[in-house]
Amino acid sequence: MTQVINPATGNVLTSVPSLGLAETDAAIERAHKVFPAWKAVAPGDRARLLRRFAALVDEHIDELADLEVRNSGHTIGNARWEAGNVRDVLNYYAGAPERLSGRQIPVPGGVDLTFHEPLGVVGVIVPWNFPMPIAGWGFAPALAAGNTVVLKPAELTPLTAIRLGELAGEAGLPEGVFTVLPGKGSVVGQRFVTHPAVRKVCFTGSTEVGKSIMAGCAEQVKRVTLELGGKSANIVFADADLAKAAASAPASVFDNAGQDCCARSRILVQRTVYDEFLGRLEPAVKAFRVEDPARETAEMGPLISAGQRASVSAYLDDADVAFRGTAPDGDGWWFPPTVLLAHSPADRHWREEVFGPVVSVLPFDTEEDAVRLANDTEYGLSGSLWTSDVGRALRMARAVETGALSVNSHSSVRYWTPFGGMKQSGLGRELGPDALLSFTDVKNVFISSED
Ligand code: NAD
Repeated sequence: MTQVINPATGNVLTSVPSLGLAETDAAIERAHKVFPAWKAVAPGDRARLLRRFAALVDEHIDELADLEVRNSGHTIGNARWEAGNVRDVLNYYAGAPERLSGRQIPVPGGVDLTFHEPLGVVGVIVPWNFPMPIAGWGFAPALAAGNTVVLKPAELTPLTAIRLGELAGEAGLPEGVFTVLPGKGSVVGQRFVTHPAVRKVCFTGSTEVGKSIMAGCAEQVKRVTLELGGKSANIVFADADLAKAAASAPASVFDNAGQDCCARSRILVQRTVYDEFLGRLEPAVKAFRVEDPARETAEMGPLISAGQRASVSAYLDDADVAFRGTAPDGDGWWFPPTVLLAHSPADRHWREEVFGPVVSVLPFDTEEDAVRLANDTEYGLSGSLWTSDVGRALRMARAVETGALSVNSHSSVRYWTPFGGMKQSGLGRELGPDALLSFTDVKNVFISSED
């Protein structure tokens, strides 16, 4: 059993089983056995089951959100959005079974057809920072494409995934089609990599573990999607709406206490407006509400664990702190929003993913400098840029090496547009029209029309 802790209080909430190898193998084998029947479900019936699952999630939004507030310290507003995102992603991909068409390619002597065949059992491995959405981004398209799914939540945050697994059963998904397996990464997660019946691993987590999963999957030429770390840039030009750029910067990095792979944790400001920008940023950071995440007014809750707080705190050693916001004292893993001045792109807090409410600011001179500094990282997940010059916005949007970029905004993830990283931030794309096909293989069939 693993104890589940409320990060806002440090109190034990409950305990959940930590599955061993034999239980994991049994669940994978059940998913393997039921795969042919799930694949054969008529497209309209599979769509109906996914819509029913979505409807049940919708009926349980408050319950799921409350679980996430207590298990993960997410603000109640965010947690409701996250449960709603699972519903929306299920509904979006419920449209897929009836639209998963192949092609008919002109060939001499017959007809050539392509089919998008499901892979088999898909293993989804989820991190602790967004337990509900990241689970849904894996299981919804995988199930829609006709795969069966085994899902491992993070050790720290298993509660909402377990509840989603129950709701799937209540919605009528046959047993074994979608199974949630709480346990250790080194046991349950690793078995997804090594078990030959698992044909794809969909992993979200740290770059380090992602690399080992990719290497392990190579052994069986297993398909893999990786969503890994980030160190995204928020680039502010002198010609931007500075008031808006400064007012929106805190939420773009401190949302979810900075434990967000898309956090805009490097702010690049054109030197001519650097002082003015910092002057506007300070009151916005100080006004950021860090409090009991169950309160409707909360903008940020605690960090996930004592270990995470220690690792985030270490980035402040020897760093130049510009200013900080506030956070509650006492129990729980609280950490105030913190703004650091970078003196060189070699600074550790500028280069490494802190995964906490810490942002680094560095000035730049020219557009060319901004591109060079933004791209001077092995990550490439997200980012924002602020300018009133349309031509510059387009040049920059093409030049910054990142999987998703927003101009004059900090666009969050939308379930109907693709999401994923360039460089070491990941491999493949989730959400939108792209994700579905990554849970299939193309089969080409030639039918002779000769006598
Ligand atoms: P982590 O890599 O430690 O763990 C992620 C998951 O992998 C957990 O469920 C864990 O149990 C499992 N795991 C650990 N070792 C494993 C192994 N050897 N084999 C199989 N599974 C294993 O990451 P974390 O600390 O939970 O999450 C934080 C990281 O996730 C950050 O780096 C963050 O940037 C990244 N992240 C990326 C995205 C994205 O979409 N790109 C989204 C959220 C989080």
